[in-house]
Amino acid sequence: MFVIFAPQNVQAMADLKLYDPFPKMQFTDEHCFLCGTTITTADRTPVFGEWMQDNYNLRDKELLLLDKSVTTFNRLTIPCCQHCHTNYILPLEKEIEAAAEAGYEGINSLDPKRLFQWIGKMYYGTLVTELIKEKDPLILPENPVSENPQMLGKFKTFYQVLQSLRVPMEFSDFLPCSLFILQVDPTEDELPFEYQDEITTMAFSIKLGPVVIVCKLLDNGIIRNVLNRLYNLTEGQKLHPIQVAEFKARVFYAAYIFNVVPDYFIRPGKADDELLTIDTLIDDITNDVFNPFEPLAYAHMLEEMLKPWSIREPEILKDPAKPLTFLTNEDGTLREITSFEK
Ligand SMILES: [Zn+2]
Repeated sequence: MFVIFAPQNVQAMADLKLYDPFPKMQFTDEHCFLCGTTITTADRTPVFGEWMQDNYNLRDKELLLLDKSVTTFNRLTIPCCQHCHTNYILPLEKEIEAAAEAGYEGINSLDPKRLFQWIGKMYYGTLVTELIKEKDPLILPENPVSENPQMLGKFKTFYQVLQSLRVPMEFSDFLPCSLFILQVDPTEDELPFEYQDEITTMAFSIKLGPVVIVCKLLDNGIIRNVLNRLYNLTEGQKLHPIQVAEFKARVFYAAYIFNVVPDYFIRPGKADDELLTIDTLIDDITNDVFNPFEPLAYAHMLEEMLKPWSIREPEILKDPAKPLTFLTNEDGTLREITSFEK
């Protein structure tokens, strides 16, 4: 007979255990998305916080999913156990709600890690919905995400750091994303709420009243550094919606040509550690961090973002060396736009 002595702090150790749904592709309605516990189909959490749905009247608004099917904000929920819902999701939503109530200052003073987790939850929620659907034998998606090893590798890596939502985790000297918080001038702002995400490039943006948060997940802040000069210009300034649209195009395009996936490592710890320390490494030797900038591809991205103003690619690329910009003047200072004639 063997007697196994459990260390005294077995509880603490268990708490730091990460869950990995990817090896078994455990994406079903019977497993909590955050801890993997077996649950019933009634245990779910909304991808978009209830407070947000109420504040911006989103409940019955339609959302287009990756497989081109349509759902509503209200119906988009993911499997989540009671424990995770009550202890990790609700407190996070409460924190963001309170911050959003305080407007730009509120959002801006949030711990960036909390914003990362909040955005990450919505992004992953959309992704998980897709992965669960792909398991349905009646649905034969054209390009299933679950059969793309490169994408899956990226999602698995992202999921490691997303678990900071549940498992106490400290990122050594990085944030696993690039975050930008912009302020919109109310004069010509017609949108109380806007949401956009791109599953493959992991680019994301959300507009809560006068505040727009733009994010590229899983780049360890590299795009934030690249756009640092431009971003600094916007600080404390209220931007015209067309300028916000251009800023989004810059971030989304940078995410599109971003070419590396960071590795994350759990620093070896002691049995009584209360949190995991995560170190990271980006291999920029095997691959360039960015694919080359292509003016035409950028112009298409900008054209897409500028749709409400009907500005088309030929106008954007009148000078191919200098794509059209609404953000800066010739001398590199921030352009002031209060009103824009369509
Ligand atoms: Zn759970």
